[in-house]
Amino acid sequence: MTNPFQGLSVPLTASASIKRRYSVTQDVVSYRRCARQYGAFNVHNYAPAHQTQLYFGTVLHQVLDRCHGHFQGLVNSSTKGQVPDQGRVLSDAELQQHFADIRNAIDNGQPQPAPPTDLVRYFLEVEQGLRSQGIRAITPDLRLKALRIIQYFNALEGPELYARVRDTELRLQADRQSHILHGVVDLLVENPNNADPSECEIWDYKGMSRVGLLRADLQTYLFQMRVYAHLYELKFGVLPKRVVLYFLGELDGDRAPHTRPANATLELAIHNGMSSNEIGEAMQAFADTVKEIETSRAQDHWPAASPGEISEQDCAICDLRWDCATPNGGQGVALRYP
Ligand code: SF4
Repeated sequence: MTNPFQGLSVPLTASASIKRRYSVTQDVVSYRRCARQYGAFNVHNYAPAHQTQLYFGTVLHQVLDRCHGHFQGLVNSSTKGQVPDQGRVLSDAELQQHFADIRNAIDNGQPQPAPPTDLVRYFLEVEQGLRSQGIRAITPDLRLKALRIIQYFNALEGPELYARVRDTELRLQADRQSHILHGVVDLLVENPNNADPSECEIWDYKGMSRVGLLRADLQTYLFQMRVYAHLYELKFGVLPKRVVLYFLGELDGDRAPHTRPANATLELAIHNGMSSNEIGEAMQAFADTVKEIETSRAQDHWPAASPGEISEQDCAICDLRWDCATPNGGQGVALRYP
């Protein structure tokens, strides 16, 4: 019997290299903070026992996004131009009472009471969406803190800021040689007197406090702002006027602040002396981090941050802390058993 394929040679086609997408914050910033934590939860996709960071950051972002939608009248045109609740702030006691009323109604099979304000309604709606994904506040205090900060921000910044917001969830990206770098910036804020893109600012919310950040964290955030400026330039052809990181945790306290706390923002004024070298340095630093991520992936090697390179508050909410020598200045965490 003859072999019909004898002598037939089919050359292998060169496999097309597919560029991996890297997020500025979820990949590069996370890996720079701690490669071990990044490898466990972003690459191996282990489920964290408590989604503390995810709950807090997401609830703040999503409720504030609804505040912007409220002001723009996106859901209900009658709210156009209005700050939610006219900036009213409910006390912790009033919020706790409402949460208790909801619990009682559920326990007794009664209809739930109407939320006392629009902000509380937005907050509960966002929480419900997160709960369906298994993400919830681990303590009532954390929940209260998130809603308190949102109210404070709405009252303090809403009247001036909301009117200046030109776009939210602004998507930016750069096609690099070996990968695609992308980011989603929370706000594009325009100058009221000049809508030119070179006069616009980009704002990004951070859930944490700025106080307590280490020098390495601040360096990474500085690079992040320069990288955003570059990605903005790729999209609009000009650099933005300013990049602002807003540390929402700085607003927390017993009373609503009447002025913006000094540490609440980290700003990068682009036109005041920032050279293309500085942007190039940041892009190179992030490209180097992407290479390190690729190497870690290839070797499946994810080293923990060294003591002093990561803040104790980051380690304190990491599930890997029980098996990590870095927390507590390199002494690790004392086990609770036997
Ligand atoms: S405890 Fe800290 S250093 Fe250790 S893996 Fe977690 S975040 Fe990284």
